[in-house]
Amino acid sequence: MTFKEKGLLVVLSGPSGVGKGTVCKALRSRGSSLHYSISVTTRKPREGEIDGVHYFFRTREQFQEMIRNEKLLEWAEYVGNYYGTPIDYVKKTLAEGKDVILEIEVQGALQVKRRFPDGLFIFLAPPSLKELKKRIVGRGTETASLIENRMTVAKSEMELMENYNYVVENDQVEKACDRIEAIVLAEHCRVERLIDKYKNTEGFDKQ
Ligand code: 5GP
Repeated sequence: MTFKEKGLLVVLSGPSGVGKGTVCKALRSRGSSLHYSISVTTRKPREGEIDGVHYFFRTREQFQEMIRNEKLLEWAEYVGNYYGTPIDYVKKTLAEGKDVILEIEVQGALQVKRRFPDGLFIFLAPPSLKELKKRIVGRGTETASLIENRMTVAKSEMELMENYNYVVENDQVEKACDRIEAIVLAEHCRVERLIDKYKNTEGFDKQ
């Protein structure tokens, strides 16, 4: 049997406001070889967002049906809306030997960890809580009490970092992308991922 490397499941997560979306967008524009899973959500599309491109926008009933039919790898309720990762795309893409990246909040990431312990879990961290607050305030979309709520949640989310394999500080977006690409590359070179290529398969013997 010839050796076929399995795709990596990369989970990029971290507290709200840390810049997960921005980093993912930057990784995409750098043309990295990661495949992006499109989440399902019950929140309303923002201006410019397209169904099937940014999210699959669904009703709460449709979302609950997906949960019942086990169509989601993980899901979470976040600020009053549901978000979830369709499982079929992830399974199919990994089976094709391609890497998949999920950009999700921390509760969802922990669910993925339980189901895919071999995944690569990257925690995106702010340079400081002060900086995180500045970023949340800078978005201009939250009231003062909501900002305080988000900061409380962010502090408890920071404590979940120990469940991850790597922490990447998002001090500058391009630097964060460099680190993520380096981590993914290193992960592909792990002995346990490649050892079968050199030990048990015809492909290597023949050369
Ligand atoms: P937004 O509404 O700003 O697009 O996303 C809100 C939060 O939901 C972000 O932290 C984002 O990472 C997270 N999110 C997006 N898709 C998913 C998903 O499929 N599952 C989970 N658990 N979180 C998600």
